[in-house]
Order: sequence, then structure tokens, then C-alpha cells
Amino acid sequence: MTAGVQLAYLIAAILFVLSLKWLSAPTTARRGVLAGEIGMAIAVLSTIFAIWPPANLGWILAALLMGTAIGAPMAIFMPMTAMPQRIALSHAFGALAAALVGTSEYYVAVTEGHHLSAFTMGALGFEVLLGFLTFTGSLMAFGKLQGVLPQRPITYRGQNAVNFTLMGVAIVALVWLIIDPTQTLLFPVLIVGGLLFGVLLIIPIGGADMPTVISLLNSYAGLAGAAMGFVLGNPLLIVAGALDGASGFILSVIMCRAMNRSFTNVLFGAFGQVTASSGGDEDDDRIVRSASADEAAMVLEAARKVIIAPGYGMAVAQAQHKVRELADMLTKNGTEVLFAIHPVAGRMPGHMNVLLAEADVPYDQLKEMDEVNPEFAQADVALVIGANDVTNPAARTDESSPIYGMPVLDVDKAGTVMVIKRSMSPGFAGIDNPLYYNENTMMLFGDAKQFVADIVGELSRSAAGV
Ligand code: NDP
Repeated sequence: MTAGVQLAYLIAAILFVLSLKWLSAPTTARRGVLAGEIGMAIAVLSTIFAIWPPANLGWILAALLMGTAIGAPMAIFMPMTAMPQRIALSHAFGALAAALVGTSEYYVAVTEGHHLSAFTMGALGFEVLLGFLTFTGSLMAFGKLQGVLPQRPITYRGQNAVNFTLMGVAIVALVWLIIDPTQTLLFPVLIVGGLLFGVLLIIPIGGADMPTVISLLNSYAGLAGAAMGFVLGNPLLIVAGALDGASGFILSVIMCRAMNRSFTNVLFGAFGQVTASSGGDEDDDRIVRSASADEAAMVLEAARKVIIAPGYGMAVAQAQHKVRELADMLTKNGTEVLFAIHPVAGRMPGHMNVLLAEADVPYDQLKEMDEVNPEFAQADVALVIGANDVTNPAARTDESSPIYGMPVLDVDKAGTVMVIKRSMSPGFAGIDNPLYYNENTMMLFGDAKQFVADIVGELSRSAAGV
């Protein structure tokens, strides 16, 4: 490898590290994406340059074109709310690429009689096993989130034993191959074991845990990439794969914490169990108080402090721009406005930050859950916009609730709670929300964008003295 290529690799590696650092805050996230893109472009171009003139430039260009033709429309046309599925597909393809490279490296080495050291064979086997496992696992995760496969956990008696036996067989095949790489009959065992284990690992996990699992699969795809780096002797692949592996793992841990779940509970929680109960013994005589946009506008106009708690419904309705308009009007009216950001509101980590940043909501109005929860008791109004589970007080009080223990936004502590949603339907967790029956709760039934627009209209009319 020439000094020029080494320097390019170093620059790309630094850009990857900076990219991850910048992606950790909404203010710098766009810069983070750009740094990652430039780093990847440098990595691809310098790798092609390192093997210049490549014997198979036509194939490389064809693959680049095909990847772009599939990836660009996916990025442009898939909606933000489908982001977890989109990411699952990307991991599936990334992991498949690593697994196929590993497979071809193995067969080239054995057919051409090259010696595979124990280290290289170990890295290669790890890459293939993890790559195929991540491929089918990510496809299963995609299917569950897209509704192509049933979201509920699919379980059967002896599931643990079947899965661990299968994994055990694949690991024995890998160890055997490390000892004797010429045992070519064992290599397909590794491939089939990985493919099957990916399916069996994911089917018992419920749809609600899928985004956490996708983040973990992201980490596996990264580790498969790092192993590929060892096999091909490419230091940049090792760095990029390790960064991907570590960051995906850390993100899964953060998501588990935000939902108050342990890692093993997410991965193995559904084993042997049918489905989570909704835990509801609903009284039909509970009273729901609904209100109109002009009543809501009157309450908001009189409020000195308003905390807006957005959720998945705001994303679906694409109401973020109208919400910002409302926040601006209230601020102009002398009201203090804050946005309460729950770490798992919406359908992907940072979902609310992304939407509100897109609508140019000032960052200092965005408050993370721990910071904003003590503020609710002093707020005149908590305005919940399309959020449900992340505001469910049963998570604090009802031990039988499936989300018991998940930290939630304390919206019920505000003077008045206003909830914009279309019906009494549950959210992602599929459970009833007792918040809607509280005496200080006003339900504002309607589409989030339309309802906020109606409130804005009422406030403008009132400001104009009409
Ligand atoms: P929820 O899914 O709990 O609730 C969203 C609510 O939005 C629904 O009750 C729905 O009610 C309402 N809604 C849907 N469309 C509209 C619309 N057009 N206008 C107004 N309201 C609408 O969302 P939350 O954000 O509160 O919670 C996120 C959930 O997703 C949590 O359970 C979390 O664990 C889970 N999750 C999140 C992940 C993440 O990374 N962010 C990852 C994995 C899971 P209605 O139909 O009546 O309108």
C-alpha cells in the first residue's frame, strides 16, 4: 500500500470518528452525516486507486451503479417513519456483502492451495457466520416492522434448546475449520447455520423490540466488516467495522435503558411465553373530556408555561412545521415554551430531534426527559401531540403494565394536559393510557397537523381581535 493510500485511509478514519462524534448532537448532526459521506467516498476511491489498474473495473462500476440505483430511491422516497425498516435493509445488504466476500476468499484460498493461518481462518469464519446471521436476521426484522411478518413473538416449546444447539453446531464447524481449513464440507455448515440462526434468533422477538434489535444487528454487521478487514488486510475496513460495531452496541444499550429493559430480556424475553398481556381491566364508565380547537386556544393563550410533548403521531401527520408555528405564536404572547423529548418517542432514536430540527425549532427549547420532567409541575399546560406510550403514567404505577418501569414524560403533573390524537386507540405498546381519563386532561381529537393548524388559526383570530 502506497503512502498516499495510507494517508487517505487515515483521513477517512478520522472523518468516521468525527462523524460519530458530530452525530451525537442535533446541532452538529448534519455536519456528521457529511463527514461520514466524505470519509466513505475517500475510502472507496483510495481503495480502487490502491489496486489500480483494477482487472475488473467494469464489475466494480456496475456494482457501484446498481447500489446507487437501489440506495438513492430508498433514501429519497422511504418516509422518515419507515426509517428503522430502511436501516434493517441496509444492514442486511452490508452483512450479505461481507459474508459473500468471506465465502469467495475461502473457496479461492482452498482451490488455489493457499495456506490459511488459524487467525485468518478464524476471522473469515467469524465474518461468514456473523454476516449470514445478520443478513437473515435483518430481513426478519424488516419484515416484522413492515408488517410483512407477524409482529408478535413466534415461540414454541424447546426454542432455547433448538437455537443454542444450532449455534453450537456452527461454532464447532468454525473451530474445526480453524484447526483444519481444508475440511471444505464444513464450510456450508457455517453458511447454513448462520442463515438459519438469523431467522430463529429474531422470530421470537416482538415488533416493539425490533428497533433495538436492528441496532444490535447493525453492530453485528460492523463486526463482520471488521473481520473482513482482517481477512483482506485492509486497516480502514477494520476501523470502520469496529466503529460501526461499537456504536451500534452502545445505541442498543441506550435504547434498552430508555425502555427500562435488559439486553437479555429484549433478546430472549419472549422465549417460551405467548404474548404480553395488555394488563387492562378497563372501566367503561370512565369519563373522557374532549375539547375543540377554540377551547384549546383559550387555555393556551392564558398559559405562562407550556411544555409540548411530541410523539409518533406528530411524525405521521408531518405536523412539525405547524407545531413550530404554534410555539412561535405562544412565545410571542409571552409564554415560555419547551419541548419534552423522550428518548424513544417516535420510531427511531432521535426521531423527534430530527423532525423539530427540520422545522427549525431552536435547540435551547428542546429538553431531554430527565431535564424536563421536574418542569411539568410548574407548567400550566402539557400539550401532547401524537404521543401515547411515552406519556403513559401506568409505567410508573401499574406493576401489571407491560411498560411498567419504562421512564415516561410526567405530563400528568402539569396544570392541564391536552392530548391531540385521532381516537382512543393505543400506541405502539398496544395498551390503554389512563392519562386520558384524568380530570385535568382534555382530549383534542383530530389529525395532529390539522388540529394544530386550527389552534393556530384561533390564536391568530384572537390576536387580530376578530
Ligand atoms: P405511540 O406509538 O405510543 O403513540 C402514537 C399515537 O399517535 C397513537 O396513539 C396514535 O393515536 C397517534 N397518532 C397516529 N397518527 C396520528 C395523526 N395523524 N395525528 C394525531 N395523532 C396520531 O408513540 P410514542 O411516540 O408515544 O411512543 C413510541 C413508542 O414506540 C414506544 O412504545 C416506544 O417504546 C416504541 N419504540 C420507539 C423506538 C424509538 O427508537 N423511538 C424504537 C422502538 C419502539 P390515534 O390512532 O388515536 O391517532
